[in-house]
Amino acid sequence: MEVDILAFGAHPDDVECGAGGILARHAAEGYRCGIVDLTAGEMSTNGTVEERKAEASKAAEILNCPIRKCLNLPDAHLSVEQEGVYSVIKVLREFKPRIVLAPFYRDDRHPDHGVAGELVRRAVYLAGLKSLPLEGDAFRPQKLFFFLLYVNRDPDLIVDVSDYYQIKEAAIRAHQTQFQQHCYGGEGPLSLVNDSFFLRFISSRDRYFGSLIGASCGEGVVPYGKLAVADLCGEVGFK
Ligand SMILES: [Zn+2]
Repeated sequence: MEVDILAFGAHPDDVECGAGGILARHAAEGYRCGIVDLTAGEMSTNGTVEERKAEASKAAEILNCPIRKCLNLPDAHLSVEQEGVYSVIKVLREFKPRIVLAPFYRDDRHPDHGVAGELVRRAVYLAGLKSLPLEGDAFRPQKLFFFLLYVNRDPDLIVDVSDYYQIKEAAIRAHQTQFQQHCYGGEGPLSLVNDSFFLRFISSRDRYFGSLIGASCGEGVVPYGKLAVADLCGEVGFK
């Protein structure tokens, strides 16, 4: 099965936090989207691998992503080595995405996030080499975009996800073992506002990014390399 967009995360809730709105929006517009978790999140303080797998599958359903795969690389010990890069290349060759999303490859508080971005960055290029000793036809996605997790950086592009924010929130909430209030001692109903500092950071930032483009919520991305625009009066998105 081929996809238009394939989003990679280091852990089973990364894609939801950084690009859940983007996936929900593109899926609703008819693009086929998939998610690949590099690890099963086995080093998490809360939740077993089985629980996290079930939560990830539920979240993918909420985002309307028919594909969710886990590469079972080592959580908390992700490294930019051949095993990981080759695992990513195999899924790129299998699903042939036009667009790839991955965590920004530098400066994130969690070392796995940056490593995940760098692994995917390398794999996107190397997947196009015919002589690589791997199965599958050489294939290179058209474009790689980095999404932002626990890192402060100005995005180069902001996607308006205002109409899909409830879906993003529901997908994040599907990861109950990670975001239940008891994990953080919060009170009141489970919501992004009452939840962990990380979720507050994510939702505040999404609202801020939205405000920069005249929308209520936006998710920022950083393209790897430059983007070509043919018509400055067209879909550039000035408001
Ligand atoms: Zn993570």
